Amino acid sequence: MFTDKLIHATAADNRLRCMATVTTSLVGEACRRHRTSPTASAALGRTLTGGLLLGSGLKDLEKLTVHFDCDGPIGDIIAQAEPSGNVRGYVSNPEADATLMNDRGKLDVRSIVGGGKLYVTRDAGFEIGLMKEPYRGMVPIISGEIGEDIAFYLARSEQVNSAVSLGVLMTVDGDDATWEETVGTHESSTAEFSLDSLRVSAAGGYIVQMMPSADNGLAAHLERNISRAPSATDMVREGFSPVEMLRTVLGDLDLLVLEEKEPRFYCQCSHERALLIISALGREEILDMLEKDHGAELICHFCNEAYQITEDELLGLVQTAT
Ligand code: ZN
Repeated sequence: MFTDKLIHATAADNRLRCMATVTTSLVGEACRRHRTSPTASAALGRTLTGGLLLGSGLKDLEKLTVHFDCDGPIGDIIAQAEPSGNVRGYVSNPEADATLMNDRGKLDVRSIVGGGKLYVTRDAGFEIGLMKEPYRGMVPIISGEIGEDIAFYLARSEQVNSAVSLGVLMTVDGDDATWEETVGTHESSTAEFSLDSLRVSAAGGYIVQMMPSADNGLAAHLERNISRAPSATDMVREGFSPVEMLRTVLGDLDLLVLEEKEPRFYCQCSHERALLIISALGREEILDMLEKDHGAELICHFCNEAYQITEDELLGLVQTAT
């Protein structure tokens, strides 16, 4: 059993900033909740992992949102990370799936993402009324493979050159076919399976960023080390911890871990919040719900939890609504 971990570190005498994470359990939970297809699972899992990594240095009350606004069949991919390591997210079309694997034998995430725009928003204290101006960056989606797009965003929008590796490995229970990494035949991607037998067997990733003090020599050295290292997915599958992943990627460069967290899939929705949302719809709308359905059901986009609002609760809201 994997334990999810997220670390924040510096390396090479503060000239590199590094983040690494194992997210197998939380990506598994996200995919179960949203019943995502294999390809949508990879897209959502990579985005949740990338969001956690980008958000690993967040301060109290800050929040980071990664939003892929895709032209392809998956629609929107959203991940939102908090300083505690909590992350939540969804895709607008969980059934979007690639019918074929790409030429590297991997799930063809690019084919369901297509083009579009990538937004990264950092806001602070909005929920307690600290109306600090959020920071929002936008770049076009240049790859559709998620990791490369996040690297492009960091270089273009935040002017930080970064190496980004994100991976999700899916396995079908009782079958050796692994979609993400096997040099597969096309048959295995169209094989019959039920979503219940599909499992996220490894997920994780890392980001290594060049600080302004890093010179070309260090960049070349790092590039050489990374090219010799296995992919993030392979390392997680082998049971590497985030520290071990970074040590493997950094090679002989020194590493100093600053912070370690246990990330999890967590959504702050609740029955009470669901009532607040309905109450905000106004008296007319609530009366309509009472008449037509004698109740209401509210489903949270972020975690797919369904909240049943009873007739009595609606009657109570009518009293207070305007
Ligand atoms: Zn929720």
